[in-house]
Amino acid sequence: MSDITKDLVQQGQTAARVGDLSEARRLLTRATQQDPDNIEAWLALAGVVDSLEYKKKCFNRVLELNPDNVDAKAGLQMIETKLAAQEERVVATESLHPAIKMDGSPAFCYRHPEVETSLRCNKCGRPICPRCAVRTPVGFRCPECIREQENKYYSGTNMDYIIAAVIAFPLSLVVAGLFTTILSGFGFFVLLIGFFVAPIVAGFIAEAVRWGVKKRRSRYLRHVVIGCLIAATLPFLLVGLMANGIWGAISPGLLLFLGTAAISARLR
Ligand SMILES: [Zn+2]
Ligand SMILES: [Zn+2]
Repeated sequence: MSDITKDLVQQGQTAARVGDLSEARRLLTRATQQDPDNIEAWLALAGVVDSLEYKKKCFNRVLELNPDNVDAKAGLQMIETKLAAQEERVVATESLHPAIKMDGSPAFCYRHPEVETSLRCNKCGRPICPRCAVRTPVGFRCPECIREQENKYYSGTNMDYIIAAVIAFPLSLVVAGLFTTILSGFGFFVLLIGFFVAPIVAGFIAEAVRWGVKKRRSRYLRHVVIGCLIAATLPFLLVGLMANGIWGAISPGLLLFLGTAAISARLR
């Protein structure tokens, strides 16, 4: 190693140590130009350049000079790992936005013809603006494709709504009647008991309906059942309110709120 190169390498390493990377790069690049066969210079340069590609070049040069150099081998391996991770990130970003058109030319949302967009529904391929796009685990979809998907999911018929009402309304009446009259005898404990019992009895109504429609799913099934529960409970709420004030409204009120939640959860 010539003395000039040796000095350059040492100065470059010092510059790197004190954090002046641009000076380090300048000195070490000069060192490799001065002595292209200098392994130490190439290794030091690899440590201070920014781009992974450039680092790779430095390490490869070292391996040309000495195929057994462990530092260069380890460095290359590290770079390969980093490059692979970067590539994965790019692929992941692309698969998150599979709807983005590759040619980049803008199109207009098919539902908002004045809105320019580069998004496309990944099912039908129509352009959609970010406001219309619905994010799904498989990419962006337009509202129509989402709706179509949901329609396949909902296997019930209109008849099921009638069956649901026929089952849910009388059952809700009985439940609301029993619930209010029985609980009114418990005084303060009405809160505690009602809190536990309301979801159970409402769940019972929901299961009866599910059995009645043979477990077919319908978009508005729970709305129908909740409507029945409200219609059946409301009279008891009003009567209780008029007779006993706020205390008379507690048990039907609990049935309404907790029951609605329970039915909503079961009939999806
Ligand atoms: Zn679509
Ligand atoms: Zn739109």
